[in-house]
Amino acid sequence: MKHTITLIPGDGIGPEIIAATVRTIEATGVEIEWETQIGGAQALEKFGSTLPESLIESITKNKVALKGPMTTPVGKGFTSVNVGLRKALDLYANVRPIKALPNVPCRYPELDLVVMRENTESLYAGLEHVVVPGVVESLKIITEKASTRIAEYAFQYAKDNDRKKATAMHKANIMKLSDGLFLECFYKVAEKYPEIEADDKIIDNACMQLVMRPSQFDIVVMENLYGDIVSDLCAGLIGGLGLAPGANIGEKAATFEAVHGSAPDIAGQGIANPTAIMLSAVMMLRHIKEFESATKMEDAMMEVFKDGEVRTRDLGGAATTADFANAVIDKLK
Ligand code: ATP
Repeated sequence: MKHTITLIPGDGIGPEIIAATVRTIEATGVEIEWETQIGGAQALEKFGSTLPESLIESITKNKVALKGPMTTPVGKGFTSVNVGLRKALDLYANVRPIKALPNVPCRYPELDLVVMRENTESLYAGLEHVVVPGVVESLKIITEKASTRIAEYAFQYAKDNDRKKATAMHKANIMKLSDGLFLECFYKVAEKYPEIEADDKIIDNACMQLVMRPSQFDIVVMENLYGDIVSDLCAGLIGGLGLAPGANIGEKAATFEAVHGSAPDIAGQGIANPTAIMLSAVMMLRHIKEFESATKMEDAMMEVFKDGEVRTRDLGGAATTADFANAVIDKLK
């Protein structure tokens, strides 16, 4: 079966890592017609909008997108493109598997957990205003609906993926109403999944525990802002931002993207690590039920890591983005 998938190269290192990924996906033999769309800073020049209607329409129609990082132009009036896309498509669950890779030096070589981030509300609702000059107010929105739905997704994911435990991370001791509601919804959903252990940790302690003894965690569930921060922290535990993949899942569509941003400091040099976006593509292949291609691609990547000869600069090697893709493609042959 041929799939049609929206492809968003994005900004900064986006086009480089996306090109390497598309080549690798195609080498698995899966048949995909790509519908390329631009968004972010580039789209502003062409369409006068960072999130053109054509991009939203394409993903709505195809239901799946592979997405490079998009940059939000600095300045007044520009709300985050990535947040905007997640809101427009109601991609409520951000799933970020954190798994150490073979032979990649990192603090916790055995680590295997999943960060589950609520994607549509909290302080990312973007509701800020000036009360009086010198005083601004930023509203944290937490709803029963969104908190319940992320908890449902997390527990169901645990069940489907043979995970044993879900931990809610929060600050309900201080934000008694907002984080309190999030936590209450988490435990209410947990009752329906007695086979999955449920517990919770206050976010500051949780961060220390993640750094010191992360193996105690399996699936960690939290609201938007904590999830953003904890994802980068967890990427650091397995060797850096170049390695952590992600998926944004909604009822009607899903987009697959790396945890990292557009890395303008290394853009255009062909040296970015494409691992995170390639692993996001593996998640995408599983999502469209191309299990064989997904496993082939993942296994080929793991072999390249095991060999340890082709490594990008962030991992202490000298390989380019294209070298890494070529090495994976060689393993697929
Ligand atoms: P955003 O605000 O869009 O999330 P950010 O400010 O967190 O972006 P990133 O673009 O993610 O920043 O980059 C953070 C650092 O990690 C930079 O030094 C960048 O070069 C490095 N980095 C990010 N992605 C990669 C990658 N794929 N390969 C190598 N280095 C990367």
